[in-house]
Amino acid sequence: MPDVLTYVLHYEGAFNKNSLGAVSEGAARAAEIGGECHAVVVGGEDLTDELCSSLGAYGATKVFRARGPEGLAQPVVDAMASVIDRQGHSYALFGGGLLGFEIGAGLAARKHAGVTMEVTAVRAEDGKLVAERPILQDSKISISRYQGDLGIIIGRINAFETVSRDGGPAEVVDVDVEYSPWSDRATMVQRGEQRGADVDIEGADILVAGGRGLGKAEGFKLAEDLAAAFGGNTAVAATRAVVDAGWYPYAAQIGQTGKTVSPKLYLAAGISGAIQHKVGMQSSENIVAINKDANAPIFEFSDLGVVGDLNKILPKLTNAIKARKGS
Ligand SMILES: Cc1cc2nc3c(=O)[nH]c(=O)nc-3n(C[C@H](O)[C@H](O)[C@H](O)COP(=O)(O)OP(=O)(O)OC[C@H]3O[C@@H](n4cnc5c(N)ncnc54)[C@H](O)[C@@H]3O)c2cc1C
Repeated sequence: MPDVLTYVLHYEGAFNKNSLGAVSEGAARAAEIGGECHAVVVGGEDLTDELCSSLGAYGATKVFRARGPEGLAQPVVDAMASVIDRQGHSYALFGGGLLGFEIGAGLAARKHAGVTMEVTAVRAEDGKLVAERPILQDSKISISRYQGDLGIIIGRINAFETVSRDGGPAEVVDVDVEYSPWSDRATMVQRGEQRGADVDIEGADILVAGGRGLGKAEGFKLAEDLAAAFGGNTAVAATRAVVDAGWYPYAAQIGQTGKTVSPKLYLAAGISGAIQHKVGMQSSENIVAINKDANAPIFEFSDLGVVGDLNKILPKLTNAIKARKGS
């Protein structure tokens, strides 16, 4: 049967949202080609029967449980390759995120399989799965069809919606995995979870986005003050440069490797407007940019551009909005 295998990451007794999206997507698409969706989980004693079988609620019919280190790519590649060798899955499907990219790429190399990354849609065609991936700044869609025994599909982050189903509990199957000699070379030193942190930038009507022009992590106070003055459904967003610098959480990142948003107002403060940022916010209804460099690329796609120092402009704007609102 053309079954789909997914990997489900867990942390402190709960499954990762992106992974649940992958299971939901895998189950829906597998059903269309007459197969089932199965999941691989890797971890310790916290992977109880109850927790594993709960993946049935998202459409998984079988969960292969391997004992091993959780959160590292190579052991998962070993576990998935071993399950695929025994069960003959036709597709491996992952939610977005760095771990999914790493595992998917490793599995593609191990199994000599075709891989498509940043997939935003999967559909069935003539009994096979086809992956759609936006290209050329999301202006076109490239379509991947797979040859050979295995096709690997890696979603764009949050591309696959988590859908609960009425299905019963999934069957839990313990698998012995012979880990590769290099799989224990990396160990988990510290683990944090920022994806899906409590920042709802995708649902916000107004986004105040900050870039490197804010100068330092504390500079985000200016953006937060302005967001608070707007009130209502307003949130603070960020560029990758400041997320990489540790100034703001990844959950707030807009762009190619972050989230795609289309608020009513996108106010960009100290953001140059790199193409990888633009693709995540260009469909905002109104774009206002504050930048001290009149030649900054962001002005090319802004509705209103303010050339000046954000350290002076943002507090004035905040005060003006407060005054207007009488707060
Ligand atoms: C594969 C790949 C994926 C990427 N994915 C993303 C992504 O998802 N999201 C993303 O954002 N980026 C992404 N990037 C990075 C992107 O290329 C840029 O490096 C990044 O967006 C720049 O962030 P920035 O605008 O904050 O910083 P900068 O480019 O350094 O711009 C800072 C701006 O602030 C202005 N400024 C400085 N001081 C002030 C001041 N006092 N007042 C007003 N203006 C001021 C400057 O004139 C400048 O224009 C990706 C890159 C690659 C290669």
